[in-house]
Amino acid sequence: MSPSVAIIGAGFGGLCMAIQLERAGIRSYTVFEKADGLGGTWRDNSYPGAGCDIPSHLYSYSFEKYASWTRRYPEQPEILEYLEHCADKYDVRRKIRFGAEVERAAFDGTTWQVTSGGRTEAFDVVVMSVGQLNRPRLPDIPGMSDFEGTSFHSARWNHDHDLTGRRVAVIGNGSSAAQFIPRVAEQAGHLHVFQRTPNWVIPKPDTAFGPLARLAFRFVPGLQRVYREWIYRYAEATLYPALAQGWSAELLKKRALRHLHDQVPDPALRAKLTPDYPPGCKRVVIDSTFYPALTRADVDVVTDGIVRITPKGIETTEGRYEADTIVYATGFRSTEFLAPMEVVGRDERTLEEQWKGGAAAYLGISMPNFPNLFLLYGPNTNLGHNSIVFMIECQVRHVMSCLPHLSATGPMEVRPEVMAAWRRQLDAAMTRMVWGGGCQSWYKTPEGRVTNNWPGTTTLYRKLTSRPPAPAYRPVQPGGIGAVRPAR
Ligand code: NAP
Repeated sequence: MSPSVAIIGAGFGGLCMAIQLERAGIRSYTVFEKADGLGGTWRDNSYPGAGCDIPSHLYSYSFEKYASWTRRYPEQPEILEYLEHCADKYDVRRKIRFGAEVERAAFDGTTWQVTSGGRTEAFDVVVMSVGQLNRPRLPDIPGMSDFEGTSFHSARWNHDHDLTGRRVAVIGNGSSAAQFIPRVAEQAGHLHVFQRTPNWVIPKPDTAFGPLARLAFRFVPGLQRVYREWIYRYAEATLYPALAQGWSAELLKKRALRHLHDQVPDPALRAKLTPDYPPGCKRVVIDSTFYPALTRADVDVVTDGIVRITPKGIETTEGRYEADTIVYATGFRSTEFLAPMEVVGRDERTLEEQWKGGAAAYLGISMPNFPNLFLLYGPNTNLGHNSIVFMIECQVRHVMSCLPHLSATGPMEVRPEVMAAWRRQLDAAMTRMVWGGGCQSWYKTPEGRVTNNWPGTTTLYRKLTSRPPAPAYRPVQPGGIGAVRPAR
């Protein structure tokens, strides 16, 4: 008999899980989605210019090649369209329960009791796929509620608010801000960009696919596969070593500095935009239109510290800036992972308690004390150099390979000694990565532990997640842990 599976979230991860269950003939699953549409981050982030800086031929499922991409780096509406297409093609939409936020998931010794909208249902398996960047982080600046104009977060863009001719203030200058600032600058009367820390920026070699290229992608056998493989290998071979402070680190820095010099002629502005930490420590911004927007006469970059928000605008240590609109491009609550969901494992252990020192999971997927609970895009599986969709597919493959075992032996959890070894390996690998020191980023907890990023190549991750899972897990029997050892 197939296990019943609750999938939480209908973004890239949740849909991938649902599709693979369908393909395996397992229909006993339900996808809980808190919003009224699918797509996750690609539904939420609809700000002007939103798109992915990984080419879509790679930032898409390997099993669902798509010949309709109109450009190398398509914008958000096209990516969302792709996900809608996948949901329909693989017929998983009927299984998604929209407007169904899961408040609680608790293991009762045999099954998971999943509560949504006050109703509790039992499932054998829970797959959490809520993303790392799904909860916007509003800053804690005094006076925010006193502002008399319109304000919103970049991930909750107010499309009813016309920016034409307005004085707009943007707080933050990460990847999201870099994408919408050029668009907003074209509309606004004046734009103040409040930058706390500059980011490294490299060009985005975007190009539209003309009719011939699109025909070729549609009809030339193997072309999409070869193109995808080329992008993948290039990222692995050149970008990963830069993050691991290897041979390409200096090249990446030189490329970013040349981009800055090419696009920003004013030395004073260039100085403001030059970071003092190594590239990759924070997510490198990949964009060719951001710097030119900052050089416009009607745009200025403010680097004074923000003191408070006033009814009329923003007060800094050096002066006051009036604004009609404030856009908070201040990122996400990235290290809190499954919050605010309450997750209770074996023996009433809460996930909050288990993750007190920072979120951690074996392969980023499973944890002791939480049998039959799997995470997609969990702790230490984010990348700064390649496609998250690749990682998600590895994770889904791992979960699929666990299902026959737990059907045979009952609930399974990862062995504590396997988890401990995993943490040691992760810590050792992390020491060579550029994220460790020198900057603050959404990759790490306030205490400095990198909980979000994967420190290896994605090729290594695929290898690790492809190993037969049984030796790493132990069954949880009613009679006690490990009463039955898994088949080897
Ligand atoms: P982010 O990278 O976390 O950037 C947040 C920005 O807000 C930073 O510039 C930060 O400054 C600033 N900030 C936060 N609190 C502040 C405060 N109290 N006062 C002043 N400034 C403050 O967020 P994001 O731009 O939304 O991007 C998040 C991630 O989403 C990216 O790194 C990327 O992985 C992903 N993303 C990807 C794409 C893509 O094309 N693939 C596009 C958009 C987003 P500090 O740097 O000083 O902290």
